[in-house]
Amino acid sequence: MANTSEQHPEYVLEKQVNDTLHFVRRAADGVRYLAKEYNARDYPELLHLREEKPDDKIIAFEAAARVLNHENLISIVKPIRPVVDRAKDNEFLLVYEFCADGNLQQLFDKPPMEVVPDYGFLPEGLVWHVALSMLRALAFLHEGWREKILLSGDDDTVIRRWYCPDDDWMPIIHRSIRPENIHFQARKGKETYGLCKLGDFGRCVVTGTARVPRDNNIEVVAMLNNLAGRDVGPEEIQEMWYTAHANNLYEGVEGVPDWESTLEHGRLYTIGSELADLGAILYRMMDGNRLDIEACRRCGCFHIDPEPPGCICECSVKDVYLDQSLKETKYSDGLREVVIDLIRLNRENSARAYTCYEKAWGLYRKWKDLTAEGQAHFDHYDDLVARKLAEKRRKLDERKRELGDEKLAEQELAAKKKDEDLLAWE
Ligand SMILES: [Zn+2]
Ligand SMILES: [Zn+2]
Repeated sequence: MANTSEQHPEYVLEKQVNDTLHFVRRAADGVRYLAKEYNARDYPELLHLREEKPDDKIIAFEAAARVLNHENLISIVKPIRPVVDRAKDNEFLLVYEFCADGNLQQLFDKPPMEVVPDYGFLPEGLVWHVALSMLRALAFLHEGWREKILLSGDDDTVIRRWYCPDDDWMPIIHRSIRPENIHFQARKGKETYGLCKLGDFGRCVVTGTARVPRDNNIEVVAMLNNLAGRDVGPEEIQEMWYTAHANNLYEGVEGVPDWESTLEHGRLYTIGSELADLGAILYRMMDGNRLDIEACRRCGCFHIDPEPPGCICECSVKDVYLDQSLKETKYSDGLREVVIDLIRLNRENSARAYTCYEKAWGLYRKWKDLTAEGQAHFDHYDDLVARKLAEKRRKLDERKRELGDEKLAEQELAAKKKDEDLLAWE
């Protein structure tokens, strides 16, 4: 460990988490962040810092950090160069927002001691929380759509609106929707669960086509291995291609003519694949078991909704008929429907996170309004509204004292009424 005078002045190294990951604290306020080691030779674009290289151009890192500015994405703070070890001259640290409540993989590895009675695995509120948060994150990555949460100036009701701040949005496919990349922030106020955020953008693909018009089908297609993620040998890709063809995975999908071109790009991966990956994770939250939505690595069959009689190989993986699954549990029909819909999008190339979100939102509200458990569930929006209303009351009381006239203070407030954006406020 270097002496402190050698460390980056703005962030102090606190402790090493694993080979490449550190906890750092911001010197100014002691807030904890995660910092991941990168090699400048492998990721030169991440190091082109404005402060090191004054330049008018928007450089890759800044562009990425700006894009990732969304409440359901882990945000990148900045790259730093702490001189930890002289031998590692090319190393730098990328500072990320830290989510204190861990990730979903940790929850799968060490589930809560008491499983809620009648649920298969995790409580319904948590499954909804992850579903809605990740769909919001994906609607943003795929299409640049953000949700606005407004508090109506007239009667303090919550209004939701969608908008797209960037007309030239280039769809981004995350390609690593995995439990270890779904993180939870510490809870705020009365929230039942802390903000849920998607992290790890190392395998993201920014597709070259401009934003898809809102009413048209999306045909955004990426390939699974064409970035730094993992190296796949030609034999493995050929095998994947043949397996995919044998299972009609490419049926109706244009632009996958032969395996040689697939060799260059890897496995076909669409918006639908991404949503189905999320569906499989939600399914696991409810069932406790991992659900493999791709062709079985042992026998080559698809074990989800196979044509009867199903897989007759000697395979340890059991067939799953989605319509029959999770029926014995007390999860709401709405939640089951959302999860099953998502899983079935795997071979759809016209799927949209936004559409899935809007449907899920309606079914979630039903659960939240009509069940005792739902009514007790305090979500991110509830907390924003509660805090905003408390703030309003406090200001009104203050104004009443200042003016010495209650009526006048209330009239003043009424004159100012306008919709307020809660997320911006936060
Ligand atoms: Zn199998
Ligand atoms: Zn089989």
